[in-house]
Amino acid sequence: MQKLKLNFVSLRIVGIYFIFALLWILFSDAILAYFVVDIEMLNAVQTYKGTFFIAITSTLLYFLIKAHMTMIFHMEQKVEENEQRLEYVIQATNLGYWDWDYQSNYHIVNDTWLSFLGLSRKDIKNDITDWSSLIHHDDKVRVQSAIAKTLQDFEPYVIEFRMQHKDGHWVWIEGSGAVVEKDVKEHKALRLAGTHRDISDRKKAEEEIVFLAHNDSLTKLPNRTFLKQKFDALLEKAIKGKFAFLFLDLDAFKNINDLYGHTIGDTIIQDVAQRIFQQLTSDDVISRVGGDEFVVLTQEVVLVEHLCQKILSCMEKPFYVGEHRINLGISMGISLYPDDGDTFEELFKNADIAMYAAKNSGKNRYTFYQNFMTEELSATTTMDNAIKRGLDNDEFCLHYQPQIDLLNTGHVIGVEALVRWYSPHVGWIFPNDFIPRAEENRLIIPLGEVIFTKALKQIKSWEKDGIFNGTMAINISAIQLGEENFLDKIEAIRQDCDVCASTIELEITESFLMKDPTFASATLQKLKNIGYKISIDDFGTGYSSLAYLKQLPLHKLKIDRTFIKDLPTDKDDKAIVRAIIALARALELEVLAEGVETEEQSAFLIENWCDTAQGYLFAKPMSAEDFESFLRQN
Ligand code: C2E
Ligand code: CA
Ligand code: CA
Repeated sequence: MQKLKLNFVSLRIVGIYFIFALLWILFSDAILAYFVVDIEMLNAVQTYKGTFFIAITSTLLYFLIKAHMTMIFHMEQKVEENEQRLEYVIQATNLGYWDWDYQSNYHIVNDTWLSFLGLSRKDIKNDITDWSSLIHHDDKVRVQSAIAKTLQDFEPYVIEFRMQHKDGHWVWIEGSGAVVEKDVKEHKALRLAGTHRDISDRKKAEEEIVFLAHNDSLTKLPNRTFLKQKFDALLEKAIKGKFAFLFLDLDAFKNINDLYGHTIGDTIIQDVAQRIFQQLTSDDVISRVGGDEFVVLTQEVVLVEHLCQKILSCMEKPFYVGEHRINLGISMGISLYPDDGDTFEELFKNADIAMYAAKNSGKNRYTFYQNFMTEELSATTTMDNAIKRGLDNDEFCLHYQPQIDLLNTGHVIGVEALVRWYSPHVGWIFPNDFIPRAEENRLIIPLGEVIFTKALKQIKSWEKDGIFNGTMAINISAIQLGEENFLDKIEAIRQDCDVCASTIELEITESFLMKDPTFASATLQKLKNIGYKISIDDFGTGYSSLAYLKQLPLHKLKIDRTFIKDLPTDKDDKAIVRAIIALARALELEVLAEGVETEEQSAFLIENWCDTAQGYLFAKPMSAEDFESFLRQN
């Protein structure tokens, strides 16, 4: 094509010259003869005509060549510009460039190409062996076959491979190449060219992603995905054998995060991972499967208890973070393959259940999985979820049981609020069936707030409508009282409902008083200072120390129903009830008898100066509307 164009341009110049010369030869003499008649004159003018011809044709040639040269010059300039542009692009994209004359094996590269490998010009010989010898052994065949294919079908290639840097490390290269000159007739490549790009950073990121997909970034331990892979491998190997699945969970780790913050929490997790890791053999697999949860797979089933002991003792030493000294326990659950399951999920779940059992039986210990644990757990989780749903759907309401002034008026002087749960699936549920669980899972805290709010709204509405102005007794669980902000919470509700504190009686149990007497005493004092009345519920069952009772800011003792039940026949109960009434008088406290069902019981209590009573004899707990009509009737 290029050659053809060259011939055409040359022919055009010669052609123009040829036509002009031909016309001159054919017509110049005739034109001259027409103008000059004299022969002598004509001879002289002939000489001038020749000179004129040379001058004219020289001028013509000059312009033709000049026009053509200008064109060539412009083209060259353009080529140069394009070359420069290409160079800029190559530089800007940080591409290494190579060009390989396939005939002579002459191979040239640009500076960027060299820089990827830390080479300088004098390090290479411009021979194809310059780079083929630097390719990683494992990648060589791939590179060679990609080039061979391109030489064969003239299709460009792109591949990734490693080349050795001058300092010895491996550099990941993305190489592309194409045939840029070929002999079509012979179907032979004459020249190849292509680029190199350093993709080491991208490869590193990819490797990191693969690592993160299998490892936990904080502890660098394998994660659950990897554990599952190891498990599958172990399963194949252990078809006949056994192995153990340990689920480990730090005790009360949430407190560490809350107290010291997550950064310190993370450091401790790393330390714990390290300590546990040191107890393992090289065949054991450890993985972090959650915040403070780890799983260990071990084939040493006979030694699994020994391993648990070692883990417990490695945790005994305190953790030091800055000036903080932190003690941490760990609870472990063990499930065994194949006895406790033969899939990863099953063994995982059962080890987790066993770990919970370890926590429930006192923490910082290990427990082997047993079938009954699953039943227990599923019952409690169903209950937990039902309570949560009940709270969300406002399924809890209050019934009220009147408290009667026995000695003076026989009137209703107060009510006790008793929670009731109406579940659309089960119907009415009584407190003994859910309060103990709500205390265990601490849902009693939100539930207690609901109860407190409802009771206060009710008493406010009765007061406002002039229906009732006695006290409202509300049962408060020890869990609620143990909450640091309990007082702030109930005060906020009280102020919101605009109820006077002296209208409210908080029923607390003896067990709360005895567990941490100093704390209990301080809490009660604060409540009393605000004006709340405090009564001791189920009195007589909790072995309160009498000396201690004297120091507490109490208002009332409620004699437990068990002592009332067999009155007035049971001699012991009679003696106990008399003693409690006497004690209350001595301490200047009011006294109330619970569970009064018969006239005989009531008569005995009146005889012994018991101030007030509560029980089916007077009224059962009832809804607010029923209580209103009860008041109207009495
Ligand atoms: P408690 O505080 O001792 O409440 C008295 C319980 O005795 C109530 O049972 C009441 O219905 C029942 N009762 C009243 N009079 C008689 C009677 O003459 N004979 C008999 N056999 N029983 C009588 P309930 O409502 O099932 O409550 C059971 C327990 O559940 C309560 O015992 C209390 O410990 C707890 N509870 C009830 N409501 C709440 C609450 O709102 N918050 C908290 N934390 N606990 C509550
Ligand atoms: Ca009570
Ligand atoms: Ca009671």
